Amino acid sequence: MKVELIAITQDPEALIARCARVSHRSEDRASPEADAKLIRRLIELGHESVLEFASATFLIEGISRAAANQLTRHRLASFVQESQRYVDVRDRALVRPPSFSKEAWQKASELYRQALDLYDELVGKGVPKEDARFILPIGAETRLVMCANFRELRHIIRLRGSKAAQWEIRSLAASLLEILRGEAPNVFYDLEVEA
Ligand SMILES: Cc1cc2nc3c(=O)[nH]c(=O)nc-3n(C[C@H](O)[C@H](O)[C@H](O)COP(=O)(O)OP(=O)(O)OC[C@H]3O[C@@H](n4cnc5c(N)ncnc54)[C@H](O)[C@@H]3O)c2cc1C
Repeated sequence: MKVELIAITQDPEALIARCARVSHRSEDRASPEADAKLIRRLIELGHESVLEFASATFLIEGISRAAANQLTRHRLASFVQESQRYVDVRDRALVRPPSFSKEAWQKASELYRQALDLYDELVGKGVPKEDARFILPIGAETRLVMCANFRELRHIIRLRGSKAAQWEIRSLAASLLEILRGEAPNVFYDLEVEA
């Protein structure tokens, strides 16, 4: 899996703090230290709506369709996912679950090879890609772009980073958190992704 940050609000913490300060007319108190304190306090108090003023966009590649199906359930995020109707997906790999033994992985890889051969044959015989894809497994790789504001990103990381979540989306949540903490440490300071 590859997670790349392709866009983010400029100086996100300064912007969030500046917007939050409008309510108390305290813009004159802005400084990096005061902004950090303010943001953490707002999060502690549950006043997360101000986090909506900053957003980030990620290119996520090499995740399974199973994980993508889960991620795209988050309605406040925006997505574009590679289309299996239009794109030839013969070179997409199968994602390997960590629970698969060497033998299980060999069998799965062989089955996938057969599915790709059949896909190839069907497309070669004029079957549209949108129909040929029906024989591809849910573990096949996909790529997508996701954009969300910081409040929603916190929500996604909290839900998908919990122990109850599936390993692959948990790993994605860990990557998102690592990147976002580097960009906005005070907005994401309190989140943890459970191993
Ligand atoms: C561990 C785990 C297991 C899951 N298992 C299943 C499963 O078996 N089957 C299944 O179908 N799904 C499952 N899901 C998906 C889950 O039900 C949610 O659809 C998904 O997590 C999106 O969550 P959300 O609605 O909180 O988030 P988002 O869609 O990201 O929304 C963010 C928040 O905005 C608010 N919001 C958004 N839309 C509305 C609305 N229309 N009305 C009111 N408030 C709104 C809510 O406060 C919501 O929490 C699972 C999720 C997890 C984390």
